[in-house]
Formats: sequence, C-alpha cells, structure tokens
Amino acid sequence: MRINIYDIPEDGLHQDLDIPVSINDRTKPDRASVRITLLRFGKKILVHGSVNVTVSLPCSRCLKYFLCPVDLDFREEYTPLDDTGLKGDQELSDDELGTGFYEGEEINMVEIIREQVLLAVPMKPLCTEECKGICSKCGTDLNEHSCNCEDDRIDPRLAPLAKYKASLNQRKE
Ligand SMILES: [Zn+2]
Ligand SMILES: [Zn+2]
Repeated sequence: MRINIYDIPEDGLHQDLDIPVSINDRTKPDRASVRITLLRFGKKILVHGSVNVTVSLPCSRCLKYFLCPVDLDFREEYTPLDDTGLKGDQELSDDELGTGFYEGEEINMVEIIREQVLLAVPMKPLCTEECKGICSKCGTDLNEHSCNCEDDRIDPRLAPLAKYKASLNQRKE
C-alpha cells in the first residue's frame, strides 16, 4: 500500500484504507481501518488521520495473547530520506509534529501505520488489570490454578528460621 507523492493533489488526498498491521511475528496481521489525509508541500508530506485496530498482544504477566483495541489519531510530517537538508524546516515544524522519512517518491502506508500502532500499544500490556500472572517458580497460570510455591516466598528476615525448620523436617524423614 504505497502512495506516490506526486499523486497527491493540491488540496490533499483523503483515503479510507484497510491496512494489515503486524506488530509481532507470532500472530497474523491485524486489519486496521485507517482514515487519512495527505498533504504535500514540495517534497514534504504531512499525513494526519485516525487508526482503529484490534491487535493481539501477549499479556506481560501471564504471557497469553489477548485482544487489545487501539484507537489513535496522529499527525506526522515526512521528508525524503535522501534529502536531509529539509529536516527541521520552518513552516511545518510545530513541536507537536513528529518527523518521519520516506524513500524515493513513495509513502509506504503499511510502514507508517505500523509505526503509529507500535507507539500506541501499551509497553506492559495486561489482559486484565487483575491478571495474577504465572508463578515464577513452577509456571502455573495463577489465573486458573493456585500452586504451592507461595510458601517459599519468605520474608528474608525470616529466612534463617525457615532454614532451621526445613532442617528439622529433614531430620524427621
Ligand atoms: Zn494476563
Ligand atoms: Zn508455583
């Protein structure tokens, strides 16, 4: 899904697109509905629009994949990669504008949308706020089962006592 910059008419190009977004290798691409406007100022392209997608993410606690809806609006300026002289130029360089780059004469919408979605997904996704995660010792999913490892999580101040108790138990065996 590439757009040639010279196909952008003077009053801008408005498009509704359905773009595949893959944010990890484990799952197949999620379809994003994208509504964008592209404006061209010489070789500088201003892209703004909105993206709605439901991505599949691994929960940072239990590691299970879950569906996470992402809705975002973005506004970004793109300059040609080989024309770095244009970087940080006057007229469009509002602070709120990010700057990206494109190669040749084409804007790769798939790349742009993927980048925006990656920026918007949570750093530590959670399947639910209450997710209990998995036991770091035995790997049990604590949302589904409990395990007996809890007893091992001993306050370090009590560790000598626990050791003593363990040695008593061993003697009994
Ligand atoms: Zn989880
Ligand atoms: Zn456990």
